[in-house]
Amino acid sequence: MSIPRLENESDRLDPIPGVVPHPLALPKGCKFAPRCKYCTQKCIDEEPELVSISDDQMIRCFYPDKEERNSAEHKEITVNY
Ligand code: SF4
Repeated sequence: MSIPRLENESDRLDPIPGVVPHPLALPKGCKFAPRCKYCTQKCIDEEPELVSISDDQMIRCFYPDKEERNSAEHKEITVNY
């Protein structure tokens, strides 16, 4: 869940390019795989679990750590729905 906090000023988030998949034709693995520049074969094949990272934050990504994300073997992919 993402709840914006008005008291925090921060930089804007980088938008994810591409088009959101149709809800009735979601990819098999991570739902962001077709649009994520960090996508790996694992992201295409498996859906990451929802994991709590703090009292009020949860994530669903195989590579939440920046160093791990940058060192993973990422692919230029085409996902078929
Ligand atoms: S890196 Fe994370 S967000 Fe990107 S496709 Fe893989 S699991 Fe999804």
